[in-house]
Amino acid sequence: MLQKGTTSAGPGSASLILDAIRVAGTISRVGISQVTGLTGATVSNVVRRLLEQDLILEIGRAESTGGKPRVLLELNPTARYAIGVHLDHSALTFVVVNLAGAPVFQETQSGIAQASPDEVVERMAHEVDAMILRSGIERERVLGVGLVSPGPLTSQSGIHLAPPFMKHWEEYPLDVRLSEATGLPVLLENDATASAVGEYWSGGTDREANFATLFMGTGLGAGLFMQGSQYSGASGNAGEVGHTCVDINGPQCWCGMRGCVEFMAGPHAVVAKAHSDSVLAHELGLTALPPDSEITSQFAVIATASAAGNTRARALLEESARYIAVAAHSVANILDLQMIVLTGQGFAAASDIYLPRLQETLSNSFFARSSHSVDVRLSRAAETAAAIGGAAIVLQSEFVPQRSASLVANVRKAGAVSELSTLSK
Ligand SMILES: [Zn+2]
Repeated sequence: MLQKGTTSAGPGSASLILDAIRVAGTISRVGISQVTGLTGATVSNVVRRLLEQDLILEIGRAESTGGKPRVLLELNPTARYAIGVHLDHSALTFVVVNLAGAPVFQETQSGIAQASPDEVVERMAHEVDAMILRSGIERERVLGVGLVSPGPLTSQSGIHLAPPFMKHWEEYPLDVRLSEATGLPVLLENDATASAVGEYWSGGTDREANFATLFMGTGLGAGLFMQGSQYSGASGNAGEVGHTCVDINGPQCWCGMRGCVEFMAGPHAVVAKAHSDSVLAHELGLTALPPDSEITSQFAVIATASAAGNTRARALLEESARYIAVAAHSVANILDLQMIVLTGQGFAAASDIYLPRLQETLSNSFFARSSHSVDVRLSRAAETAAAIGGAAIVLQSEFVPQRSASLVANVRKAGAVSELSTLSK
């Protein structure tokens, strides 16, 4: 793991400076001093040490504005790596990302279906080892593994998954077991939150300070990024938008509430409705209702049919999109969001339906629209966002233990990013 807080300049200043460089992209020592409030001497000392550790690079000089030209600094993307693993019924996705949050290797395998937790841990550990070997990365440069699963999770170590299709995983200490099997630190996060962190780290959000990712895989959730920081809530379960009520007289959901949007309009519901429509089921070749491990693939079949002109398939997705737009609208109003990023396999498969519906709903009825609009967009990596986010959470835990919104705001205010435009090659 990286050294942290070992400088005489005070605990955490190395992390603070690394984060300032990451947020800015390219920045000078003077710029760092401005945005962090650290003295010039402290910044010089810490930067020298980070250069020695190969964590950052000097990449040239800014054009002089009179005085001595400033040397510009950037993260060294190949200095460290993190691994993300997204555990889902329908797929197991692995990624390796570099220090800048960019994927350098990725692989998707068949999902875990009904395999036992021990079998799944063995499989994941084997793949993590193989991936490190194949990507040619020195193992000591790997910081750890971010393991992403559907929620809800509890704050104690271990995975506590309540969805009915993962009952046999309850109380299984997945993060501990995977750490023992790989010899690497393992952090656990839910899929929606991880995808929000992934969007942020990989630059998919234009560094917007207040945004949510809506994640549709087998279920539906939201990851929240408030004022430049991930928002997790009291137990790490913030953003359970799937269990927002959209019909108080609706069917009983497994969570205890009635009329939850996931239960009424998530991929499960769409697939079940397709099966109950005998004409559509016949057209799509759907026979028996599939196991949970095949919900996302059957949802994709419906989306493909819709895109090819099947009006019954399209009507099902349109109905689902209307419900999900209502839930998204509530989240945007409550949190005064600037952006919503759609991600996960479900939105990747049917973005042609969901994206315009959400855009329309938000542009017509977002409460604060006279002040600002809500930008609704599809993730640039909708199918792998959660796994990338898992890896990003590892990077984040190393580099931004004390990240605050004020740092992001200061970087913007100081125009640190604009130093890039004056970079003289
Ligand atoms: Zn519910």
